[in-house]
Amino acid sequence: MIRDFERFAPKTLEEALTLLDKYGDECKVIAGGQSLLILMKQGLVAPEYLIDIKGISELNYIKSDAKEGLRIGALTPHRAIEKSPLIRDGLGVLAEMENRLASIQTRNWGTIGGNLCHGDPAGDPAPVLIALNATLRMASLNGERTMAAEDFFLDYFETALELGELLTEIQVPVVPPHTGTAYTKFNVIESDMATVGVAVSITLSSNDGICDDVRIVLGASAPTPRRAKQAEEVLRGKKVTENLLAEAGQIASTEAEPITDINASEEYRRELLRVLVKRVGNEAIARAKQN
Ligand SMILES: Cc1cc2nc3c(=O)[nH]c(=O)nc-3n(C[C@H](O)[C@H](O)[C@H](O)COP(=O)(O)OP(=O)(O)OC[C@H]3O[C@@H](n4cnc5c(N)ncnc54)[C@H](O)[C@@H]3O)c2cc1C
Repeated sequence: MIRDFERFAPKTLEEALTLLDKYGDECKVIAGGQSLLILMKQGLVAPEYLIDIKGISELNYIKSDAKEGLRIGALTPHRAIEKSPLIRDGLGVLAEMENRLASIQTRNWGTIGGNLCHGDPAGDPAPVLIALNATLRMASLNGERTMAAEDFFLDYFETALELGELLTEIQVPVVPPHTGTAYTKFNVIESDMATVGVAVSITLSSNDGICDDVRIVLGASAPTPRRAKQAEEVLRGKKVTENLLAEAGQIASTEAEPITDINASEEYRRELLRVLVKRVGNEAIARAKQN
């Protein structure tokens, strides 16, 4: 049963930040409520005050320009990202990821910012955004700060957000030429959370197909989404072959810290990672060659 609370529905970022500052740890922010309401029903979270930010339209947008790249407001629903022509044309991997996130109902109401702030290590957006080298913008009454998406996740359901702060924007830098990014998750039930997820972004040098840069990110494989940096080193600076990708997959599976739960054993998750890093790496290379 949900405990009684007082609800505020600010219409501007400034109003929301003022309320957050006033009520401190007695309040909780709610956006789409797709994750928070489950915790409230279970009695795991019982705020005195709920700051409902869903109506702050200034945080619901998708913009892109040649200099700054893509900027997504934190309150943008998953479904808007999935359907955005801007994203489908420039960063199709984000639309593909969203297309497999939850059901259409959840995607219609849940927001990208809420997903990231929930800090679930099995969330789909984080591995893709980390692979794309995204930055997160946060605001409080004290001002703004930005942080690499990679540094935002501290532990299971714990992020770097401080008391009084809101996530306001996700920024994806302009993707370098000859770069391909791909993502997949393995899940038992379609539209459910990942048993494991893998995102790979590879930049090839223009002519010889050498791997100039690579980011391999594992989801649902550790307390936070995590880069497989030793696996990346296997590929960086080399012409990527099937054998090298297989070696990267093997190493990534040992870099992970998966758990055993009702969906899969630790061993099965490691095996999935071994296979998926190679598979997603191949897809990223195929895309890099087209760009
Ligand atoms: C049936 C079901 C299936 C799902 N399947 C998937 C899936 O396959 N993949 C996946 O990744 N997710 C999945 N989810 C999770 C869900 O889609 C996301 O967690 C959802 O996007 C959260 O967004 P929200 O706006 O609803 O956040 P809320 O539930 O409102 O908030 C979540 C948390 O973030 C905080 N918060 C929200 N916005 C901000 C902000 N701007 N600044 C600071 N703090 C903020 C809240 O205080 C709360 O702690 C599923 C959920 C359900 C119910």
